[in-house]
Amino acid sequence: MALSDPSKRLEAMPPYMFAELERKISDKRAAGIDVISLGIGDPDMPTYPHVVEAMQSAVADSANQKYPSNRGTDAFRHAFSDFYRERFGVEIVPDGEVMPAIGAKEAIYNLCFAFLDPGDVALASDPGYPVYTGGPILAGAEAVLVPLRPELGFAPDLGSIDPMTAERARLLFLNYPNNPTGAIAPDGFFEEVVDFARRNEILVVHDNAYSETTYDGYVAPSFLATPGAKEVGIEVFSLSKGFNMTGWRVGAVLGNADAIQSYWRLKTNVDSGLFEAIQLAAVAALQGPSEPLEEMNRIYARRRDLVVDTLGAIGVDVASPKGTIYVWAPVPDGHTSVGFAGMVLEEAAVVISPGSMYGRSGEGYFRISLTTPDGRLVEALERMREHLA
Ligand SMILES: *Cc1c(COP(=O)(O)O)cnc(C)c1O
Repeated sequence: MALSDPSKRLEAMPPYMFAELERKISDKRAAGIDVISLGIGDPDMPTYPHVVEAMQSAVADSANQKYPSNRGTDAFRHAFSDFYRERFGVEIVPDGEVMPAIGAKEAIYNLCFAFLDPGDVALASDPGYPVYTGGPILAGAEAVLVPLRPELGFAPDLGSIDPMTAERARLLFLNYPNNPTGAIAPDGFFEEVVDFARRNEILVVHDNAYSETTYDGYVAPSFLATPGAKEVGIEVFSLSKGFNMTGWRVGAVLGNADAIQSYWRLKTNVDSGLFEAIQLAAVAALQGPSEPLEEMNRIYARRRDLVVDTLGAIGVDVASPKGTIYVWAPVPDGHTSVGFAGMVLEEAAVVISPGSMYGRSGEGYFRISLTTPDGRLVEALERMREHLA
C-alpha cells in the first residue's frame, strides 16, 4: 500500500464517468471555440441586495466573529420557525426542531454519518442528487437506488421496494421539486411516504432545495406539512437556489426533534457551526420581501419556455416543469445520454448534462439548466435549432 492510497471507502465511490465529455469540452475551448454551458445549476443572478447589506453590517460586528454554537442563534431558529409557519403552515419549535446547516450538501452527507452503520441501507432516489449515494458509501453503508418512475410523475414506487431491503433501510432520500427531473410531488405521495416510513421504521430525509422556485402558480409544500411527517422525518431546507446564495453555504435541518438531536451530536464532533454573520444574512433573506423571488421565478419561467420551444423544434417533446431550474428531456431515439450530449457539443458547441450523471435511471434523458444569462441562453438555443433541427 502506498502512503497516498485513499481509504477503501473513498475507493468505493463510483468512478467519474464523464471525463471524456469534459476532455472534449476543454479541447473545444482550447481550439478557440465559444462553448456555452447549460450544464451547471448555479443561479447566475446576484444575491438579493437586502441580504448582502445585512451581511455587510453583520460581518463588521465583533459579536459575530467568535465560534458559533452548532445549535444556531435564537434569531436564526426563530426566523426559520416563523418562515415555516407563514410559508408552509408548519409549526417548528425553535428550541429543538431546527438547526443550521452549512448548506444542504453538508447536512445530507453528515446525516449519513449520524444514522448509518456498515450493513445499513439508505434508499436513494434515482436519478438524484449525487450525495444521496456518495454519503452512504463514505459512511461505510450501502445506497440502494430507488427508480423515479416517469409514469408515476417521477415518484418512486415504494411498494416495489424489496421487503428485505426495506428492513435494512434506515434513511430514505427524497427531493421535490426534483433535481434533475423538474417533477413536483404528486398528490398523495407524501402521505404514502409517511405510511411507508412508519411501517418500516425509516427516517425520511426530504431535500427541499427548490420549494421557492416554482412556476405557473404552483406553490410547493413542505414535506413536514404532511400529517405525521414530523414523527418519521426531517427536511433539509437550502437558501442556495431560491435566494441566489449558493456560495454562502447556508441551510437548515428541520422536523423530528430526536433526529435533529443526533445530527447535532454528530456535528459537535465535525464542525464548529455556521458563521453567525451568515446566520444573520439568512434571517434577512427569510424575513425579506418576496418580490425578488417572484421576479427570479418570472425570469426562469421565461427561460424555461424558450428551452421547451426550442426542444420542440428539434423534435424533443417535453412537459414544462412547474419547479426547479431544470428542463429534463428524453434523448432522441438511437442515442445514449452521453452520445447525445457529445453530439450537441460537437454540432452546436453547447454543453448539456447527460441524464446518466444522476444515476442509472437517468439514462435516456438529458438536463438543461436555466441558470445561464438570457443572451447566452438564447444564443445556445439558436445554435441547437440551427444544427439539430
Ligand atoms: C443544489 C442542490 C443541493 C445543494 O444545496 P446546498 O445548500 O448548496 O448545499 C442539494 N440538493 C439538491 C437536490 C440540489 O439540487
